[in-house]
Amino acid sequence: MNFNTNLLHGKSIIKNPGREILPPVSQVTAFRYESMEELEKVFLHKSMGYAYTRIGNPTVAALERRISELEGGSGAIATSSGMSAITATILTVCSSGDEIIASGGLYGGTIELFHDLEKLGIRTVFTRELTGGTVRALITGKTRLVFGEMISNPSLKVIDVPQIAEAAHEARIPFFVDATTATPYLVKPIGLGADVVIHSASKYLNGGGNSIGGVIVDGGRFRWDFDKFQALHGFEKYGKQAFSVRLRTDLWQNFGGCMAPANAFLTYIGLDTLGLRMERICHNADALARALDAVGRVEVNYLTLPSHPYHLLAGRLLGGCGAGILTFRAGSKERAFRIIDNLSYACIASNIGDVRTLVIHPASTLYLHTDRAEMEDAGVFDDTVRVSVGIEDAEDLIEDFTQAIRKADE
Ligand code: PLP
Repeated sequence: MNFNTNLLHGKSIIKNPGREILPPVSQVTAFRYESMEELEKVFLHKSMGYAYTRIGNPTVAALERRISELEGGSGAIATSSGMSAITATILTVCSSGDEIIASGGLYGGTIELFHDLEKLGIRTVFTRELTGGTVRALITGKTRLVFGEMISNPSLKVIDVPQIAEAAHEARIPFFVDATTATPYLVKPIGLGADVVIHSASKYLNGGGNSIGGVIVDGGRFRWDFDKFQALHGFEKYGKQAFSVRLRTDLWQNFGGCMAPANAFLTYIGLDTLGLRMERICHNADALARALDAVGRVEVNYLTLPSHPYHLLAGRLLGGCGAGILTFRAGSKERAFRIIDNLSYACIASNIGDVRTLVIHPASTLYLHTDRAEMEDAGVFDDTVRVSVGIEDAEDLIEDFTQAIRKADE
């Protein structure tokens, strides 16, 4: 099956007992049983069933199965947000004294989270370029995971997953990839060697800009070295599934970061059009980037432009497509603001992956609390404008951005 057929007819799409074509929204806190014996069996995992929505819910489970299949994972866990997915993932494998190697240029919230984790004794070593070579050079006896964004938001750095995974695996360290901006439409990192894939489902997976969510997909292939990973002590008997089992039955459940059933439903129906949306969004982003580049009054950063430093790697790993985001430098903060304010169609909003085109000045919003060097590493300067391209007609977007730039200079 190809991508769109698999989306609609894959193995994870099960027949619902009530013949509903979509998973019904189980908008409940708890599930009722006929006898105490039955409920006890559910708690002991001796019979299938749901007890309490923070621990499991059929609507959420339907979404988890579907995303796991799309990413080629052995299982997935949906979370309350992308940030909660990253937090739960890291705390499942790291404890005080451990180290993370991460690419520079990550999403601002993730950079801040890594700084927060320092107070818990988990230190992150950032590297400007995450490559097999930098990973090998930075691994120490304390390293417990390597973390990167498949396509960084908004710097648009692409990581060479097979090369980095090989370097991490030589040292028996897992490689975790935030694939929010890529989506399984563009690339499936587990198939390239990544061990765990994380998404902010609030973005492209949902697509409608109607709910916050996250998802963690376990590749289920990593051989955990239980002498090294103290955080997984007690889970040795689960072998390659130790990460998923600790996450689901321990950390994520106790952390309380579950996805709401209504959000799972909205994301589930959003997923139906993931392929169509991504195809259109990438086509529009490419057309807009080329048009703005040709106008020449702003400096455009987009993956399909031959001048982009990751152009060749993106061509190899993303099948020639770019992504849904582009940025441009306007020359000054004031000119950036003027251009943004002159736009008619793009919404000024702090999100990406919506069907509507969204625009923001990241330095004065998303990176307000990030230090300058880290911000610039993330491809954000005082004059940077980020555009999350939507599914409008490309000609209208091109005309709108061109007039906004022209008007900013009048
Ligand atoms: N990862 C990336 C790449 C993001 O862009 C974002 C949000 O913009 C997140 C994680 C955090 O996701 P959420 O806002 O759903 O917590």
